[in-house]
Amino acid sequence: MDIKHGFVDSIGHTPLIRLNSFSDETGCEILGKAEFLNPGGSVKDRAALGIIETAEKQGQLKPGGTVVEGTAGNTGIGLAHICNAKGYKCLIVIPDTQSQEKIDLLRTLGAEVRTVPAVPYRDPNNYVKLSGRIAAELDNAIWANQFDNLANREAHYHTTGPEIWQQTDGKVDAWVAATGTGGTYAGVALYLKEQSAAVQCVVADPMGSGLYSFVKTGEINPSGNSITEGIGNSRITANMENVPIDDAVQIDDPEALRVVYQLLRQDGLFMGGSVGINVGAAYELAKKLGPGHTIVTVLCDGGARYQSRLYNGEWLASKGLTVPD
Ligand code: PMP
Repeated sequence: MDIKHGFVDSIGHTPLIRLNSFSDETGCEILGKAEFLNPGGSVKDRAALGIIETAEKQGQLKPGGTVVEGTAGNTGIGLAHICNAKGYKCLIVIPDTQSQEKIDLLRTLGAEVRTVPAVPYRDPNNYVKLSGRIAAELDNAIWANQFDNLANREAHYHTTGPEIWQQTDGKVDAWVAATGTGGTYAGVALYLKEQSAAVQCVVADPMGSGLYSFVKTGEINPSGNSITEGIGNSRITANMENVPIDDAVQIDDPEALRVVYQLLRQDGLFMGGSVGINVGAAYELAKKLGPGHTIVTVLCDGGARYQSRLYNGEWLASKGLTVPD
């Protein structure tokens, strides 16, 4: 018998999918870790579980307790599912710029949701800082603190990284991923580099995020906005500290859109926007490295969470973008 014991036991062990159209075009093997197949629908199920189980082990989270987090959506969705499965309450602070689908889903899952104006991290009313203050004021509550809680990247170091290494029989030339908290990129990069120093670890960055300039010049220069959600950074989070970064690739919104529509129409994969940045960067890297290389990236979440945005011509037009041919 092969039976998963509930929601929590079903997280991880996702397939590694060859992205046929991009692989055939470049002569490389471009492989996507299918994190949208996690039971909560995104890569963040792994971090949410790692954070909750670390807090349980350390005695910080007790029966009947509340998990509080500031999140762009997917971490909150993962936390809300796990809280239901384990009997905790969940309180989520989310910027009002995030898609309505994610906000509605959080409420359906039973989380208490507070939407707040999107203000920069340096502002005391930033959603992340606010969530920390709320957790401190509540009894029997923990602050998940995904950006600076190392249980996040450890979850990927112990699960995503080893899965990729086993699924490729150790034949991986490059790892490329965009970063929100950096947990996915960092945990996998740390694990893969330990297996082989030859694995190139490359950060993918949307336009307007500061990480690309940090890698290229040592200075963080965030500017502007990307339509992609859940990724991009204006600071180095604790999860991104002391992590190998060999290079960075920057992908703009029109290119990310072109990539997600190609995945939809030629590969049959209905993906979220950060996947456009990831696969776009993997494609650029494939062209740079030349045929014969194996490049692994992440398919963070599915397209249904962005139906009203990425897959809606009117919304795209309002951002000066068009549905690619
Ligand atoms: N893509 C999406 C859609 C996300 O929600 C997130 C997490 N915010 C990421 C990518 C980045 O993952 P991480 O936080 O592990 O860097």
